[in-house]
Amino acid sequence: MLLPLLLLLPMCWAVEVKRPRGVSLTNHHFYDESKPFTCLDGSATIPFDQVNDDYCDCKDGSDEPGTAACPNGSFHCTNTGYKPLYIPSNRVNDGVCDCCDGTDEYNSGIVCENTCKEKGRKERESLQQMAEVTREGFRLKKILIEDWKKAREEKQKKLIELQAGKKSLEDQVETLRTVKEEAEKPEKEAKEQHQRLWEEQLAAAKVQREQELAADAFQELDDDMDGTVSVTELQTHPELDTDGDGVLSEAEAQALLSGDTQTDATSFFDRVWAAIRDKYRSEALPTDLPAPSAPDLTEPKEEQPPVPSPPTEEEEEEEEEEEAEEEEEEEEDSEVQGEQPKPASPAEEDKMPPYDEQTQAFIDAAQEARNKFEEAERSLKDMEESIRNLEQEISFDFGPNGEFAYLYSQCYELTTNEYVYRLCPFKLVSQKPKLGGSPTSLGTWGSWAGPEHDRFSAMKYEQGTGCWQGPNRSTTVRLLCGKETMVTSTTEPSRCEYLMELMTPAACLEPPPEAPTEDDHDEL
Ligand code: CA
Ligand code: CA
Repeated sequence: MLLPLLLLLPMCWAVEVKRPRGVSLTNHHFYDESKPFTCLDGSATIPFDQVNDDYCDCKDGSDEPGTAACPNGSFHCTNTGYKPLYIPSNRVNDGVCDCCDGTDEYNSGIVCENTCKEKGRKERESLQQMAEVTREGFRLKKILIEDWKKAREEKQKKLIELQAGKKSLEDQVETLRTVKEEAEKPEKEAKEQHQRLWEEQLAAAKVQREQELAADAFQELDDDMDGTVSVTELQTHPELDTDGDGVLSEAEAQALLSGDTQTDATSFFDRVWAAIRDKYRSEALPTDLPAPSAPDLTEPKEEQPPVPSPPTEEEEEEEEEEEAEEEEEEEEDSEVQGEQPKPASPAEEDKMPPYDEQTQAFIDAAQEARNKFEEAERSLKDMEESIRNLEQEISFDFGPNGEFAYLYSQCYELTTNEYVYRLCPFKLVSQKPKLGGSPTSLGTWGSWAGPEHDRFSAMKYEQGTGCWQGPNRSTTVRLLCGKETMVTSTTEPSRCEYLMELMTPAACLEPPPEAPTEDDHDEL
């Protein structure tokens, strides 16, 4: 506000002080028409009538302030109503209006309109506007500072509360962990017991199947049905050949009978069956491969060795129970398979029956304890995150008085012809094609980056998406005083280095005290 007034002062005097054309008020005392003129650089002294005689006498051009005679001279426009100005003397009478008061074109035939008053008015207006913005911005800044002070205190309180809460939640988690572990013990035991029983059943069923197979084979082999299988009888099965010549010799057959000449059913199973079961082909099967004929479909004979047992009651039950089991299957499978790989056998027979009521009750109880424990653990994690966030926010450098804190959880966008730029202060800057596409990072928060005496006038965002064969993108955000908060421009002054301008009240400096004369009409 003071500036326009000060500008006016010399202009008032200027009218009164007589001086040669093109001489500034500051220099007028060098030009005393009652004395010879000494060039301002002291290079020569000349009679005063050689000043502005359109002939250059002084090396520094100081004798021709009002003409174009000296190549290095300069002409001073008073520009009453606006700002005084020096122009190079070659612009004097060059046909172009350089001074707003038109005094540089006094002898060129060009008529220059005096635009100084208009320019001065516009300048004063814009200065006033700027001053108004600064005043209002600074007023808002003080509010921002107060707001953050309060918010910070509240956040600190909240932090203390959370820290206290965390302690008790930690205790709770530990209690629930113990409860869970206690509940898992009987669960584990019951499940293991169940598993063991199931495996025993499987093993028993397997033994029984083998016994049945062996019994069937024995019956087949015992051609004369005398209750024993003899060497001769065994020899009717050449597939049992052991030396690979395709014939089961007497000696080979006897060897298979453990050196005996015959065997009864019991020792057949105990001593012979295991040695021949893999080679033995039942006479009931006409070909090597199981022929899928209509009656065969009812019996599971696909396996090698064949298992010609009709579905027992047990198996039928199992099939009925299959559906009920499927829900648990995944869980059980992983445990069962993890512990012991199973031989490839019919899937239905591998399926463990559902848990009994007591075991299921243990599982349910343990699951409930697990759920509670996990829920508490999640709450604790959430709380720890809240604490971390609060601690970070409270200790963040938001400017000398925290005036920039309000930007912390905000984002601002600027849309250009091609891109949408997004600034989330203290976090990141990104650029996204206007017509869709994924955003490119132009950097994440690095530090305050203004010059040493004005550190908070700029921010630096670093380590954005790498440029092809170039550096990682980065952005400098310049902070400008304004009443509102908005991104006003984005440019890329050098490759992959972006410059963004953010207008914010927080960047407004305290305005100078207003001139007393203007107090009356500037009062809010
Ligand atoms: Ca001269
Ligand atoms: Ca001119």
